[in-house]
Amino acid sequence: MLNFEFKNPTKIIFGKDQIGKLADEIPANAKILLLYGGGSIKKNGVYEQVQNALKNFEVLEFGGIPANPEYEVLMEALKVIKAENITFLLAVGGGSVIDGTKFLAAAARYKGEDPWDILKNAVRTTDAMPFGTVLTLPATGSEMNSSSVITRKSTQEKLGMGGTGLFPVFSILDPQVVQSVPQRQLANGITDAFMHVLEQYMTYPIGAALQDRFAESILQTLVEVAPKIMANPADYEAAANFMWCCTMALNGLIQKGVPGDWAVHQMGHELTAQYGIDHARTLAIIAPSHYRYNFESKREKLAQYGKRVWGINEGDTDAIAKAAIYKTEEFFHSLGIDTKLSDYTPDYNGTAQKISERFAERGWRGLGEHKRLSPDDVEKIVAMSY
Ligand code: NAP
Ligand code: FE
Repeated sequence: MLNFEFKNPTKIIFGKDQIGKLADEIPANAKILLLYGGGSIKKNGVYEQVQNALKNFEVLEFGGIPANPEYEVLMEALKVIKAENITFLLAVGGGSVIDGTKFLAAAARYKGEDPWDILKNAVRTTDAMPFGTVLTLPATGSEMNSSSVITRKSTQEKLGMGGTGLFPVFSILDPQVVQSVPQRQLANGITDAFMHVLEQYMTYPIGAALQDRFAESILQTLVEVAPKIMANPADYEAAANFMWCCTMALNGLIQKGVPGDWAVHQMGHELTAQYGIDHARTLAIIAPSHYRYNFESKREKLAQYGKRVWGINEGDTDAIAKAAIYKTEEFFHSLGIDTKLSDYTPDYNGTAQKISERFAERGWRGLGEHKRLSPDDVEKIVAMSY
């Protein structure tokens, strides 16, 4: 096991009808900016619950944060924060609204000239405006981690940022919100959480036995609840398990003491930036090729995953590892998620080369848990996913 430090300061308030507790978690004299997306919260009752909870606070609103939160839109919100002397941010939404809020929390206190530099120069944020979240879509884990991914439309870039200052102060998780989530987003949420676990777990075996079993239990639970939640998002028990899996998949716990891979996410972000493909779907496109391409270094872990998560026992290590990749693809297909780039766009030719060139331009010479994947390897992996 590798050395590690672990601190996750986010308070989780989980369960039925908990949104009313908002008022207890925000300083009484706060001037709040309530941030949300395209309006789903106004249709499913969440907005009303938030407004009721905050009736004794001074609250301004900024709606319209799009999926894959856009820098250009967020810069408009930053103007409001500065002009109105906002002191507390409240994200009500999915990963996009939460990630957008994290960017704003950092940008509000950023001393440099252009907040885009936080992303471009990978500046770690230690000091940010405090913010809380009301999660409406289980998927990203952003409600209990300190990462954010922001898109700049004009340059087709999608870049990550993070730092200890970017943990939410609190996050309210009411599984009842899952009822109104469309099928497409449910499938995305399951896939994103599944891939978050795999990115941390599918690394060379290094004897982190407890982390492995934590990871496997999240994968198994997701496999178990997936058909239930797809069939009936109002199934509270399934929704609660789904929601908690998504949070636990990316709150740092299973990441400690193990080397993270994250190459699938890095390549996937490029597909979203270029083609607007949903985040989770880009992961389903890249992951099978990534595991096939890196089969030698991941074989043992793939086989362990095959045996423990999918119950595959027939054949030698190679056969089980290969079957595990097929099982993963089948799982995504069972959710209605296609796993080839050509399923999403007819214009896929040249994508691999373009992505590899972008990585080279940014100086990203070593991807993956061993930092050994070159832009040339990236080109081959992406081409395998056409
Ligand atoms: P999302 O982009 O936040 O939301 C997707 C769609 O779902 C939106 O149209 C949203 O509508 C709708 N929606 C959300 N909650 C709903 C509800 N309860 N009922 C009905 N519709 C609802 O999706 P996401 O998958 O959570 O976030 C994706 C983003 O997170 C990507 O940019 C991805 O790169 C990033 N991400 C971040 C992390 C991290 O650790 N920070 C990890 C993985 C991915 P409205 O806009 O109308 O609300
Ligand atoms: Fe993700």
